[in-house]
Amino acid sequence: MDLGIAGKWALVCAASKGLGKGCAQALVREGVHVVITARGDDALQTTAAELRTLNPDVQVRAVAGDITTPQGRAAALAAAPQVDILVNNAGGPPPGDFRDWDRDAWIRAIDANMLTPIELIKATVDAMANHGFGRIVNITSAAVKAPIDVLGLSNGARSGLTGFIAGLARQSRLAGRNVTINNLLPGAFDTERLRVTMQGAAAKSGMSIEAIAERRRQAVPTQRFGTVEEFGAICAFVCSVHTGYLTGQNLLVDGGAYPGTF
Ligand code: NAD
Repeated sequence: MDLGIAGKWALVCAASKGLGKGCAQALVREGVHVVITARGDDALQTTAAELRTLNPDVQVRAVAGDITTPQGRAAALAAAPQVDILVNNAGGPPPGDFRDWDRDAWIRAIDANMLTPIELIKATVDAMANHGFGRIVNITSAAVKAPIDVLGLSNGARSGLTGFIAGLARQSRLAGRNVTINNLLPGAFDTERLRVTMQGAAAKSGMSIEAIAERRRQAVPTQRFGTVEEFGAICAFVCSVHTGYLTGQNLLVDGGAYPGTF
């Protein structure tokens, strides 16, 4: 299937590794020019070089900076001549017990996983509507649908974003002009974040990391973790010309782990 988005410009946030990188790879394969961001410049430049090799016909611009800061967002936005596709992503908040989280911890989580995507949407969405095409994908978490106790900061901040998006995506001045906004909810994907989380669980429980990983794999009906390539391919489809009638949705990508009918 031709996704029909060659030549468009995408801003893919937090994309030197993991799910964001998977999205950038899939978009570049489709001929989309990308601006990618991450905090560390070394990994970002390596990823940018890989993307250029994947498709020499596209432009790849790498902007190092913290996307959760006004300066980081301004630099990322300035690097793209226009933003037709926006993939919102940032690191997830740390696990813990809510008794230990003070106001600053909550503000950091809300800033990163709720207000940053909202600010980037605000900066880009009206121009998308004027052009008659726009695709916004927010990478959230399966924890929005099935909360994970120790990830309370994530459950809370991402649910706030989800509620806001549910209203915004249904504005006829956006949906009626071919601008869609959807959330992708990853379950367990084989990324550095998952490995770090499992290392923490292994240290706490005294089990080996391989035993922890195996237990988590067995809890997923597919019996394995997702790959960033699979995640990227779904993201690219949601960003395609074929999805103008798909908006305001929360798409679980979790290997069937969520046990509900709906
Ligand atoms: P990862 O650690 O593998 O990669 C994160 C990427 O984001 C890196 O490129 C890093 O440099 C960049 N980054 C982090 N904070 C940033 C910031 N403030 N500004 C700019 N760049 C930043 O993580 P991942 O597994 O790809 O996860 C991506 C998101 O998806 C996270 O919010 C995570 O909580 C969420 N998530 C992941 C999983 C999973 O299984 N991997 C499951 C549910 C939710």
